[in-house]
Amino acid sequence: MKKHFVLFYLCALFFSNCKDETKANGKLNVVTTTSMITDLVKNIGGDLANVQGLMGSGVDPHLYKASEGDVSKLVNADIIFYNGLHLEGKLVEVFEKMGSATKTPIALADVLDKNKLIGSEYFASNYDPHVWFDIDFFKQFAKKVTTVLSEKDPTNADKYKENEKRYLADLDKLKDDVQDVVNVLPSEKRILVTAHDAFNYFGEAYQFKVVGLQGLSTATEAGVQDVQKLAAFIIENKIKSIFIESSVPKRTIEALQEAVKSKGHDVTIGGTLYSDALGNAGTQEGTYIGMYRYNIKTIVGALQ
Ligand SMILES: [Zn+2]
Repeated sequence: MKKHFVLFYLCALFFSNCKDETKANGKLNVVTTTSMITDLVKNIGGDLANVQGLMGSGVDPHLYKASEGDVSKLVNADIIFYNGLHLEGKLVEVFEKMGSATKTPIALADVLDKNKLIGSEYFASNYDPHVWFDIDFFKQFAKKVTTVLSEKDPTNADKYKENEKRYLADLDKLKDDVQDVVNVLPSEKRILVTAHDAFNYFGEAYQFKVVGLQGLSTATEAGVQDVQKLAAFIIENKIKSIFIESSVPKRTIEALQEAVKSKGHDVTIGGTLYSDALGNAGTQEGTYIGMYRYNIKTIVGALQ
């Protein structure tokens, strides 16, 4: 009995210390969903915020379910940021239960003008949720994050603003650089075939026709008919390469390649694109900006 009591006491001491330490550091506890949003909040929060992302590299947000550990992270958070527009389909319920006067999870997509969004019947929101591929939209996310962090932690508002300014400049530079790379590719070669429809906003920004084998969400699998139809489209348009996505099983794209082959034609797999999740931390694809650069280089390189 005594032993248990001591253990309990030690645990209690340990946890209370942890808590106090966080407070003493004066850091905000921020929980985020997708790795794109995690990276964004880290850029604005700098070393002033503890940012915990729920979804790591290769994780599909459409299918993601909160674990018990996630729930406790969410409960202990000062701020929660998520994409919204029903991207995180299975997390919405958890968020709805959590809403309170002091802590309401913030859907970053709420800052966007609905008239500028691409419509979709696949989602309860009626909009395509893959909005981060429009760099201007991502800039609006950055501004919202800055506002929220500054409201919660007014002492450091100047620092958040400074980080925002630097990050927005980086995003402007990214936008120009991506355009330069895209310009190399003639317009008739700008057809992007991927595992699921994540690149519509990218397509609109850079004049690509975008075709996903699966619909906008990975929750519905592509059927045999979809594969055959898309194979015919690839042959007809003489498309050189199709692309795997890091967060979607590659078998669907491989099936498409097989279907093209069975009709006596050839299409290569042009590489892996990062759509709904970034790559591993510490790699180029591990940040939003690096991911965008990696994707565009892969796409243009394979379609040229
Ligand atoms: Zn998606």
